[in-house]
Amino acid sequence: MNRPRELFIPARITDVYTYDPGEMRKVTLTLPETFEVDGRSVPVRDRMRPGAAFLAKPFGVRTQKQRRRMYSRSNGAEDGPRVLETIINDTHKEKADTSPWWQTDEPERLFRTGGFIDVRVDYDDMRSELVVYQNSETIERNNLILESDQTWPSMKIVALALSTGLTPFLSYVSHMKAKAFGSNDGAEGGHVSLIVSVKNPRQLMEHEALLDLARRYPQRFSYHPVVTREWPEDWPHTKGRILRVEMNDGNEERVNLDPLLALEPTLHQCHVRFCGNSMARDQLVRGFDQANVTPLSFRAEVW
Ligand SMILES: Cc1cc2nc3c(=O)[nH]c(=O)nc-3n(C[C@H](O)[C@H](O)[C@H](O)COP(=O)(O)OP(=O)(O)OC[C@H]3O[C@@H](n4cnc5c(N)ncnc54)[C@H](O)[C@@H]3O)c2cc1C
Repeated sequence: MNRPRELFIPARITDVYTYDPGEMRKVTLTLPETFEVDGRSVPVRDRMRPGAAFLAKPFGVRTQKQRRRMYSRSNGAEDGPRVLETIINDTHKEKADTSPWWQTDEPERLFRTGGFIDVRVDYDDMRSELVVYQNSETIERNNLILESDQTWPSMKIVALALSTGLTPFLSYVSHMKAKAFGSNDGAEGGHVSLIVSVKNPRQLMEHEALLDLARRYPQRFSYHPVVTREWPEDWPHTKGRILRVEMNDGNEERVNLDPLLALEPTLHQCHVRFCGNSMARDQLVRGFDQANVTPLSFRAEVW
């Protein structure tokens, strides 16, 4: 069997946008149209599905080495083939390595000076092409590869994103917008409700664009920004944690889903998608169980 060969090729850093200094940034990496392999110029194809992640080699401040790290793509391939956008936060974990590097001056310097980051592609020598690698080719419970273009326009999706967990859902929205949220195909009942929870309004990514999209497609898309730690006095959206872990009278831990159900009372009629940390994913699953809520389907990606 012809197995594609793994290669890392240089992608130019073509933009760096800081949402919250030292905490969160959007980075754009652009792959070349062609790349030379074994003395031949080979085209680079971008067939990434919405919700998929690519593999890059940023620098690690702790290990002082290039490391392999996965990043969910936040734009759609139709926005710009071979242009990979992602949003990266500093995890502030004790062993954090590459995530703080992305917040330093270095990516900005590389952007200004035409610098590169290596990105994985797979070389298919039978077809003589390089294909941008994505973390999975199939739809699984533990990834967020979007359902087919025949399927999602009739699904009611509730997407719950914690912080940069928004990235795969931004690519959904970008793809769906390019297809008018399925409304041109006459599909009935499709809807995406995007709930994004961040610490403070500075960390709301693409906030104005998402508000605007919700105004343009009120039948198809709604957007609920949630801030958990800081907010201005006149904050018009949800405040505080969307999943609340509380103790009941018998001193047992309960996950209070009321803030989530206040935004989406019909979760049991929806396909729920989650992107965030594993602890919050587990709390959500426990909350469903305790509140007797069974979504039509549940898929979650955790980092
Ligand atoms: C599919 C996917 C999509 C992602 N998308 C994004 C994104 O869009 N934006 C973003 O900011 N981050 C994303 N991440 C997370 C990102 O890849 C990095 O893991 C994160 O930025 C932390 O990197 P670090 O080098 O600072 O942390 P480090 O802690 O140095 O490295 C984290 C990596 O080390 C390994 N590791 C660490 N601890 C353990 C352990 N105890 N046992 C086993 N392995 C361990 C894991 O492979 C892990 O990926 C994604 C991860 C995945 C898997």
